Amino acid sequence: MIYLNIDDREFYDDAVVLVRSFYPRTEVGEYDGQNVTPEDIIIRPDIPEKEGRSRSELHEEFKTDLYKKLEKMTGRTLPWGKLTGVRPSKIAVNLIENKTSDEDIIKLFMDKHYASEAKAKLALGVAHKELGLLGQRDYINGYSLYIGIPFCPTTCLYCSFTSYSIDKWHDRVEEYLSALFCEMEFVAAKLKNRRLDTIYFGGGTPTTLSADQLDRLLGHMEKCFDMSDIVELTVEAGRPDSLTIDKLKVLKAHNVGRISINPQTMNQATLDIIGRKHTVEQVKEAFAMAHECGLDNINVDLIMGLPGEDEAMIHHTLDEVKKLAPTSLTVHSLAIKRAAALNIWRDKYQAYALNNTDEIIDAAAACAADMGMEPYYMYRQKNMAGNFENVGYSVPGLECIYNILIMEEKQSIVALGAGASTKIVMPQDDGSVRIERIENVKSVKDYIERIDEMIERKNGDVFNYLVNN
Ligand code: SF4
Repeated sequence: MIYLNIDDREFYDDAVVLVRSFYPRTEVGEYDGQNVTPEDIIIRPDIPEKEGRSRSELHEEFKTDLYKKLEKMTGRTLPWGKLTGVRPSKIAVNLIENKTSDEDIIKLFMDKHYASEAKAKLALGVAHKELGLLGQRDYINGYSLYIGIPFCPTTCLYCSFTSYSIDKWHDRVEEYLSALFCEMEFVAAKLKNRRLDTIYFGGGTPTTLSADQLDRLLGHMEKCFDMSDIVELTVEAGRPDSLTIDKLKVLKAHNVGRISINPQTMNQATLDIIGRKHTVEQVKEAFAMAHECGLDNINVDLIMGLPGEDEAMIHHTLDEVKKLAPTSLTVHSLAIKRAAALNIWRDKYQAYALNNTDEIIDAAAACAADMGMEPYYMYRQKNMAGNFENVGYSVPGLECIYNILIMEEKQSIVALGAGASTKIVMPQDDGSVRIERIENVKSVKDYIERIDEMIERKNGDVFNYLVNN
């Protein structure tokens, strides 16, 4: 346990995030002088002088001092330095848009945030790629749609998404779809004068629905929304154990252009530990079936830092992925969120290494390069193993535009379904951007029972901004 002995609560949250970045597997709490054991660590951060300083200056100074203190305590630096909470590529995008030179951007990442040169260059490269891809689009006058299907075959150990066992909830799927159809109809009618650019089906695992349900869902979408300007339609087919040839044929018939089949690892022992309950063989079969149906634009999600995985196992996964020849690859560093089973039962998994190293992250980047891919979007989460980042790689021309739009908060994303969070992007006169959220309830039961309220939430001033602008 790490205790923070901090005099000013204003800096407490900053301190927790930074301390967790150095000690991702240790619990962090506030020091109250009690129950401290000799094994515990007590950290007392310095509080900056407030007189005549802006809030942001104070927080920057606080983080710098604490970062230096933690660096000294642990003898380690972090790849992204003291950068927490903000997306590095977003910082770089803003700087490029403000005409800062590439050289100065790299210098700023290194001198101000203490990021490594390699990470500074990664953020800069991704920012240029994103701006190149978005530059050709009038994204601000359109919108994107996210449709959530919160069911999965089983719950993965690290899962922090809205996910319900399809077996247990099987009897309520039709009710869920009925509620979702109502929300789709309402949104489509409201936004009939706004251009719909991209659609993303996520969850959960949308392909846990039956072929018939998928057919009706996609058919309803086509009936409600004007699909004539769509540049991209993606369906997460994440779990290979949810796929059948009939379902994939339905996706193809409805013009789904991009799917994601996500092994996370190609090591069976790890798949068993993390509760994915599918085999490596099923991943390969899923790829073969998708190609057979003409679905050739396939993303693969991998997680680096899974329990017990060493470098040799990761190299094995990367070699196997190359054989699958996906068109894009998303490399995640394991992030253990509070609600994930891996965190709740962390004592049980204490024996497993949960580490990432520069070598592992570099190997994943090299694998993507070998497949002709380039990094095109990135984001970071709290509590990531090794404090690295998630990077999306793609062969040129097949990048997922939705991923860039959502990560860089460039376009409003209207999100439907249980646990879905709508983000309305409002550009301001001074060049800044205001983001407002409209949340749906997380529980499937509540979503079904309170669908009228969910719809009403999309009838207020925030949503109407999108209707009227
Ligand atoms: S497939 Fe994804 S959404 Fe489903 S349980 Fe696993 S991590 Fe969660």
